[in-house]
Amino acid sequence: MVTDAGIPLQDKPFVTVGGGIGSFVMADYLRIAGGLPTSDIQVVSNLSHPWQTYEHLATASQIALDNRIRSDAASRPDNIWGFPSYAVSEAIRKRTIKPLMQVLVEPVFADFYTPRLRAVLESIDREARRIRYWDMLERGDVELVRRRVGGGYFVVHADRRAAEPVFRAVRCRDVHLAVGYTGLQFLPELQEFRERMNDFHHVVNAYEDHEHVYQALRLKPRTVLVRGGGIVASRVVERLIRERVERGTRTQIVHVLRTYVAGKHGKHAWARRRGQDGFAYQGFNYPKSVWGGQLKAEMRRLDADARSEVYREIGGTTTAWRREWQRQMRLARSQGWYRVLNGTFEDLKPDGDGLEARLRVADGGLSIRADFVIDCTGLNADVTEHQVLGDLLQRGGARMNGLGRLDVDRAFAVRGADSGMGKLYATGAATLGGPFPGVDTFLGLQIAAQEVVDDVARRGHCRRMGPMSSFAGWLRWATGREI
Ligand SMILES: Cc1cc2nc3c(=O)[nH]c(=O)nc-3n(C[C@H](O)[C@H](O)[C@H](O)COP(=O)(O)OP(=O)(O)OC[C@H]3O[C@@H](n4cnc5c(N)ncnc54)[C@H](O)[C@@H]3O)c2cc1C
Repeated sequence: MVTDAGIPLQDKPFVTVGGGIGSFVMADYLRIAGGLPTSDIQVVSNLSHPWQTYEHLATASQIALDNRIRSDAASRPDNIWGFPSYAVSEAIRKRTIKPLMQVLVEPVFADFYTPRLRAVLESIDREARRIRYWDMLERGDVELVRRRVGGGYFVVHADRRAAEPVFRAVRCRDVHLAVGYTGLQFLPELQEFRERMNDFHHVVNAYEDHEHVYQALRLKPRTVLVRGGGIVASRVVERLIRERVERGTRTQIVHVLRTYVAGKHGKHAWARRRGQDGFAYQGFNYPKSVWGGQLKAEMRRLDADARSEVYREIGGTTTAWRREWQRQMRLARSQGWYRVLNGTFEDLKPDGDGLEARLRVADGGLSIRADFVIDCTGLNADVTEHQVLGDLLQRGGARMNGLGRLDVDRAFAVRGADSGMGKLYATGAATLGGPFPGVDTFLGLQIAAQEVVDDVARRGHCRRMGPMSSFAGWLRWATGREI
């Protein structure tokens, strides 16, 4: 069919689809640990560089290049050894021991050390050049990943940058999918309002560029409704408070939380999460032991039902407890221009040049006049809505796990989708709910890539890294030698 359609075909043993951080990390492991040449790997992506989506989502959701991100010092997508950590690199670069002291006393006497966005992006850029990432990149939207009769897969993609799409196909043994999220997610009432009123100005998602909101707030006093209790909501509130403190805006902030967390919570006395003023607090998006401690080991052992139960216990929306954010919110609360409401949106109507929001709160309904709504409730992770994943679920043998994402085994192979000598792997957000919870993080993508490359090595298609080759690889990394 591919030949009949006149689609040019090439052969590559390993194809990674997505070209974001997940594909970059996979290529990094295959090149360093697996010892594969660039000619054996193809990255098919609609992105020009691997940090493009991450940078866009981060900056839109108020992480400026010089702000600090959420993950810790050792979560280094540019460094498979995690050493030296971002804290050590920053200490050397800036000739100061401050980051090292912070790591020493965190999180009790200082906030967790987390690197600046700029340092993370620059480090990925450097590593991408070192492993010759762009020699492996093929630009295109992947339309289909289909099993071949003879084993392995066809990956069919279309480059849509010109007026006419250019179709190409790759015949490969293994495919890796790291396609991130399907799109932005809106609360249904907010999405309905946007579509009905064709108003994408007053109701915005925190992950889309919404700079116009902050610009408008500088012109006259206005009210902003913020929805969501995660770290993105914290950053949006931080920006609104900063605008008021530093630029003299007179914004009223109404923060609507569906779940109001008043204090410590959790089933077990030894694993309780801090909560206060409506927020659930946690340094990272899961307890740290999911990336390498007892929780990682436990999750691998559990059956599907027991695992879903643990996901329920450790999941949920959390934000980081940061001293500066606490100070800002105390100030805003004490001056009466920031308040938290425990409720949900019922309806949204235009009202003059603003909006009228009907909220459902504990003691009935409440109407609030607002100028903007910033929805910080997240990204859409529905795998059935992604063209390639949906097709694999329908026709490629893939199935869903208990959380409705792709069912993968411990080596991140998609269960039911292997093809003769070939295997289909998936990492990232699409695989949440499997044997490893921290999938949608830098360190999680690295742990997953290591499992995949070990599996490819077990099957005899790349080398397995030992202590000596690891040390030699690290020396090459540390001295910036191209591979
Ligand atoms: C605001 C924000 C802050 C974050 N902060 C942290 C943090 O501090 N620490 C941390 O560890 N993690 C953090 N994360 C999570 C981290 O960014 C993700 O784990 C990581 O980017 C996921 O990588 P990915 O490759 O799975 O997805 P992405 O990096 O999004 O790349 C996937 C890309 O695949 C492409 N694609 C999709 N479908 C197709 C197709 N059919 N054909 C071709 N290309 C396709 C799309 O362009 C898509 O963007 C953050 C995420 C966000 C949104």
